[in-house]
Amino acid sequence: MLFGAHESIAGGVFNAIERGKTATCDTIQMFNKSNSQWRAKKIDQKELDKYFKNIEELGVTVSTSHSSYLINIASPKPDLNKKSYQALKEEMTRCEMLKIPNLVFHPGSHVGEGEEKGMDTICKNVKKLFEELPETDNVNLLFECTAGQGTNLGYTFEQIAYMIENSGGHERLGVCIDTCHIFAAGYAISDPKDYKKTMKSFDDIIGLDRLKIIHMNDSKKEFGSKRDRHEHLGKGFIGLTAFENIVNDPKLKKIPMILETPKGDELLEDIENLKILRGLVKKKAKN
Ligand SMILES: [Zn+2]
Ligand SMILES: [Zn+2]
Repeated sequence: MLFGAHESIAGGVFNAIERGKTATCDTIQMFNKSNSQWRAKKIDQKELDKYFKNIEELGVTVSTSHSSYLINIASPKPDLNKKSYQALKEEMTRCEMLKIPNLVFHPGSHVGEGEEKGMDTICKNVKKLFEELPETDNVNLLFECTAGQGTNLGYTFEQIAYMIENSGGHERLGVCIDTCHIFAAGYAISDPKDYKKTMKSFDDIIGLDRLKIIHMNDSKKEFGSKRDRHEHLGKGFIGLTAFENIVNDPKLKKIPMILETPKGDELLEDIENLKILRGLVKKKAKN
């Protein structure tokens, strides 16, 4: 099984791999550019070489990138929408260059235009993206399930399924489940029976084959709160049984499981959370 965390690229993309190693990750998620700016600094050959060398020597893979928080391809404002589209396209290209197989993005916010209109704007953009990107690219674009905070879209499995279908249903369109988000959106996962029901509903509505990444975060806010506040595993309202359900689900054995929980510079919190996760795996499910 592959366990890991989101690691910072401060100082260069190669540093995320080193941080992953320090944090005992098998695999990591990282940004492919500064996440708080529109501008994307070019990655030169030297940085790229060091990045691939680190992956090889340290044995830590990069399962996914997470796109910039600035991007909103649902935006009704033409310039922000265009800027978002261009930024997302550029991130797909950067993932291809960095050989990262997945790019997770937040579907977007309709900011008052209404859910259907927002989703249709998203679909139009995603469809165009796949028409414009080279056929030979290998990067999957993953809709992240959201908590439904504010006017954020993608907080039900039905909405995600609708967007995949209406974006053209490309085989490189996938989904990232974030445990904190779906819990806050009202999907129960802590009790084993509830967990089974939630996963069955995901499979029925979206299809498990679309699931590529799981974000493993506990929640600072209550069930159904629609608030997105990550907490350390076992310290929030979700509780450890949910994570136990997930790491022992034979259907999810091949899905990278990534922490997005708070941490200090020494990454001690990641080390601790990964120890907890690995400790939840029952002997039978270990491989
Ligand atoms: Zn996210
Ligand atoms: Zn997440």
